[in-house]
Amino acid sequence: MAQTTSESVDETETNETTESALTTARRQLKRAATHVDVDSGVVERLKHPTKVQRVSVPLKRDDGELEVLTGFRAQHDDVRGPYKGGLRYHPEVNADECIGLSMWMTWKCAVMDIPFGGGKGGIAVDPKSLSDEEKERLTRRFAEELRDVVGPKQDVPAPDMGTDAQTMAWFMDAYSMQRGETTPGVVTGKPPVIGGSYGREEAPGRSVAIITREAIEYYDWGIEDTTVAVQGYGSVGANAARALDEWGADVVAVSDVDGAIYDPNGLDTKDVMGHEERPGMVSGYDAPETRSNEELLELDVDVLVPAAVGNVLTADNADDVQANLVVEGANGPTTFAADTIFEERGIPVVPDILANAGGVTVSYFEWLQDINRRQWSLDRVHDELESEMLQAWNAVRNEVENRDVTWRDAAYIVALTRVATAKETRGLWP
Ligand code: GLU
Repeated sequence: MAQTTSESVDETETNETTESALTTARRQLKRAATHVDVDSGVVERLKHPTKVQRVSVPLKRDDGELEVLTGFRAQHDDVRGPYKGGLRYHPEVNADECIGLSMWMTWKCAVMDIPFGGGKGGIAVDPKSLSDEEKERLTRRFAEELRDVVGPKQDVPAPDMGTDAQTMAWFMDAYSMQRGETTPGVVTGKPPVIGGSYGREEAPGRSVAIITREAIEYYDWGIEDTTVAVQGYGSVGANAARALDEWGADVVAVSDVDGAIYDPNGLDTKDVMGHEERPGMVSGYDAPETRSNEELLELDVDVLVPAAVGNVLTADNADDVQANLVVEGANGPTTFAADTIFEERGIPVVPDILANAGGVTVSYFEWLQDINRRQWSLDRVHDELESEMLQAWNAVRNEVENRDVTWRDAAYIVALTRVATAKETRGLWP
């Protein structure tokens, strides 16, 4: 597929199969701006990233062959603090995807009211094709190529699809060796032994569960009587499913890349191994029924949590979704067209920028711990995450109630107001 650039993206484009994260993010911004009294110049500035770094990353394969891969770091906005967001290793990584995802990070940090802006990057590569040694060499060279644009006060990467705590450890080590000083705050999501935070790994899933629990209470359903289907059983999906199961919900279906398992009486989520824990164990689990990933999205459940990849809820299947509530675990699982259908059908969609924001929130805790060189206990992380999530939930809920808007619009109103006010207050330089 031809790669578009940020300048060529047309927000009025209607072909959903080519709807990039950037297209969706710009449509959402345009819509949100109609609800908020912000200067149109500020909205225009927010449609564009501040900077997009594109780098070539040479990799020597284990067999001696040399391959040149392409990496990106999109920096959307830093008016409220350093750029912040993940690095993904995925074959479909491109400039526009990184820009769109970096815009979502700007809103996510603003909804949570943490002092970061939005960034996102990655390398166009299939992580499954890399040995551990290749992944380490690739990550170290990528860190070197990005050295001038990242830093604890500048831009702070984190794990995302295809990367993990070990990837962040290599990145931090490469950066620190070149700086001549150990710099844990250059990335978050590191292993706790080198300055990572306890609870960071499960934080995005935990926040999805907290927000789902609050939404269930808001709609007065009672968690014990709620059935949940979770698409994707990686870090986000598995942690969300297990927390909801522990709090009394019936998690009836979960899936990995190979398919879904379904038990109308509820699965024992602790017994189902995640894809990263033991590949193939979700679809290989001895459950009463199986489904395809597409069928999972259309199950008759109370809550649907898409926690795998982007663009899974589209105009093609939004009419067939039977859930009464969608809580977004992945980034960008719902296309703009599907969102409109859900709104018409009266199915609330709690957006990614609120629901999975626990990841970047605990990243913020980690950054504070790194600066202070003092680690927090897991209990403290859990307590502070719970209180940050409730504050953000209450801010968004107030907008839903006061303005009668969707949950996504409400979250955007909170975020855009904070970012735009900061921009207006600082003014334009020079
Ligand atoms: N990649 C995660 C996200 O999409 C976390 C980003 C971070 O912790 O900086 O929210």
